[in-house]
Amino acid sequence: MSLSLKKIPKVRGNLIPNADISSSSWFKVGGPFELLFEPEDELDLVHFIENLCDRIPIFIIGALSNTLIRDGGVKGIGIKLNDNFSKIKIYKNYIEVGASLLNMKFARYAKNNNFYGYEFLSGIPGTIGGSIKMNSGCYGKDMSDILYEVKILDRTKGLNNIKRNKLDMTYRKTSINDESIILSAKFRYSSENKDKKNILDLKQQRKKTQPINKLTGGSTFKNPSGYKAWKLIEEAGCRGLSLGGAKVSEMHTNFIINYNNATANDIESLGNIVKSRVYKNSGIKLEWEILKIGFSNK
Ligand SMILES: Cc1cc2nc3c(=O)[nH]c(=O)nc-3n(C[C@H](O)[C@H](O)[C@H](O)COP(=O)(O)OP(=O)(O)OC[C@H]3O[C@@H](n4cnc5c(N)ncnc54)[C@H](O)[C@@H]3O)c2cc1C
Repeated sequence: MSLSLKKIPKVRGNLIPNADISSSSWFKVGGPFELLFEPEDELDLVHFIENLCDRIPIFIIGALSNTLIRDGGVKGIGIKLNDNFSKIKIYKNYIEVGASLLNMKFARYAKNNNFYGYEFLSGIPGTIGGSIKMNSGCYGKDMSDILYEVKILDRTKGLNNIKRNKLDMTYRKTSINDESIILSAKFRYSSENKDKKNILDLKQQRKKTQPINKLTGGSTFKNPSGYKAWKLIEEAGCRGLSLGGAKVSEMHTNFIINYNNATANDIESLGNIVKSRVYKNSGIKLEWEILKIGFSNK
């Protein structure tokens, strides 16, 4: 289906046809979205979703730090929440945070206001919305440990507040469907630093072990139960393996980096080679953690 702007509801926010947002993705690859919508505010977004033909696919975009946009681009509408969706409100027992706020900004805000328990978020370079959807985590903590409730705009059910225990949050997975938009989230907080974690120490630790200054999508594969993906990849002889402009990081073998003008196809094909080498070597099937959207140019 090719999109005609005539079918698109009138909005106050930005509608950008043939939107190339590859430069804002962490991998810096990929083709354009057929249409990009940046709602002005919640009312604008609700009006858009309520009036959009339900056969037109939508893709919710965060900081694109866990997403590979394929070279042929994405048919359908990308929805990107602007800064009007990044507000923080403090209540007696919890903090409410807008979904487009970057984790790092939230972690810093929390630290400056003596709210503890969010330090781990400082190293995850996504948004609050993307991180809830992925149940992102590190250093023994993930989103499910701090989340109280999310406000979601569901394409069929409309606006809803959903408690964490209804979201089936497991390792890098939730039951939030791909066309539901997280608008904000409420987190419980502690005024005591029980974890004894400090943002600066976590940053140093990460810098030493992960290629965080490269073009990458973070961990390429999920850790299979009882195994470490990086170790399986290492044992299969894939450290430094390259294809086109993509390479398995020498610093952390579960990271693929765009080191020399890679295409999305280079990155995905290299990941698939790694997957099959690991399977041949260990009998273990790796599952992609990085999400791939759109069409390839092959
Ligand atoms: C250097 C580096 C280090 C990383 N380290 C970690 C780590 O330690 N732990 C970890 O878990 N991950 C890590 N990641 C992966 C990534 O940062 C996380 O998965 C992050 O939470 C994704 O957030 P995002 O906003 O970038 O999401 P995107 O990549 O933009 O999207 C991811 C998914 O979330 C959905 N989504 C985004 N926003 C919303 C919303 N508002 N409502 C509904 N759905 C939404 C998208 O549709 C998509 O399905 C790392 C990535 C990089 C590049």
